[in-house]
Amino acid sequence: MTTIGIMGGGQLGRMLALAGYPLGLHFRFIDPVAGEAPVDALGERVRGDYTDPAALEQFAAGADVVTYEFENVPVAAAQQLAARLPVYPPPAALEASQDRLREKSFFREQGIPTPPFLAVNTREELDAAIKEIGLPAVLKTRRMGYDGKGQALLRAQEDIAPAWEALQGNDLILEGFVAFDREVSILAARSTTGEIAYYPLVQNKHRDGILRRSIAPAPDTAPELQALAQSYAARVVEALNYVGLLAIELFQVGETLIANEMAPRVHNSGHWTIEGAETSQFENHLRAILGLPLGSTAPRGHIAMLNIIGTLPETPAVLAIPNAHLHLYDKAPRPARKLGHVTLRCDDAETFEERLAALKPLVPRD
Ligand code: AMP
Repeated sequence: MTTIGIMGGGQLGRMLALAGYPLGLHFRFIDPVAGEAPVDALGERVRGDYTDPAALEQFAAGADVVTYEFENVPVAAAQQLAARLPVYPPPAALEASQDRLREKSFFREQGIPTPPFLAVNTREELDAAIKEIGLPAVLKTRRMGYDGKGQALLRAQEDIAPAWEALQGNDLILEGFVAFDREVSILAARSTTGEIAYYPLVQNKHRDGILRRSIAPAPDTAPELQALAQSYAARVVEALNYVGLLAIELFQVGETLIANEMAPRVHNSGHWTIEGAETSQFENHLRAILGLPLGSTAPRGHIAMLNIIGTLPETPAVLAIPNAHLHLYDKAPRPARKLGHVTLRCDDAETFEERLAALKPLVPRD
């Protein structure tokens, strides 16, 4: 019996376990959340803090390998576990992705283009950075920012003071605003054996910093663009001796790609792979960390993924659309909260467009 320990009890942990049970795997979790967690139906959860050594011990007992489903796992906790168990992705990948300044510097060292960026710790440094980078620009907290939290768009001079007011006290980074044609992401899985598999580029639509919709494979993608994205992902996974699934979010400008951020875990822009790819990102993550052969990443037709945010749709209405697949995460509705997603998968473009048009009004836009 192989037991995977997952740090984090959210929907990504839930979908990892759902992908692993058919392979005969067992799961246990650690997450301090007091109420119910999306993983609770899928295995034992240690309701302890990641920084509590006793809770970590209890979690690790009986686990053969440890992974995580969110990137803000304390690095010290991952290192403590790595002293006695395989922990994948390697804790170094957590370090590289938890701090936007480190992350962008790492991309730059790998020769991967980024927006211009500068560290900002004081109001004087902010003014100097704006002088150098220019407006529009985006001011972000270096740590703990996700889903659009902890960032402010500076379009003009009058936006500077309120943004500083809201974010000061945190270590910050100022980035040049990228007038992108579209946002895409590349997902790659690398196994303990060094085998790498890449998914086709995904086209992503964000609003208020939250992913709303993905289309896969990203339409009108030249093979050269796919190859470019794969070469960037290859540099990252090789440099980190990475194991598991990695996502890199990119801005496309013409035929170039500019890296925004990476996630050392399964990713929301890969949820389409559950029905839409020969092997899902969740299964390939598990195969990678167990050193099993990776599965085909081939897409199965035209695929859309619609996030369910804030309000639940009517289940029967969604399921009445042929080729629509509903995933609910067992979370109570709350504004801006990811509650589930719907995947639509069709063989031909015409049916896909028709059914997507029918599906869209059923998924509330919060
Ligand atoms: P992030 O939390 O850094 O992924 O940012 C969330 C979203 O904000 C991105 O997916 C983009 O839509 C937008 N965004 C962030 N940084 C920039 C930037 N430098 N230029 C343009 N848009 C950005």
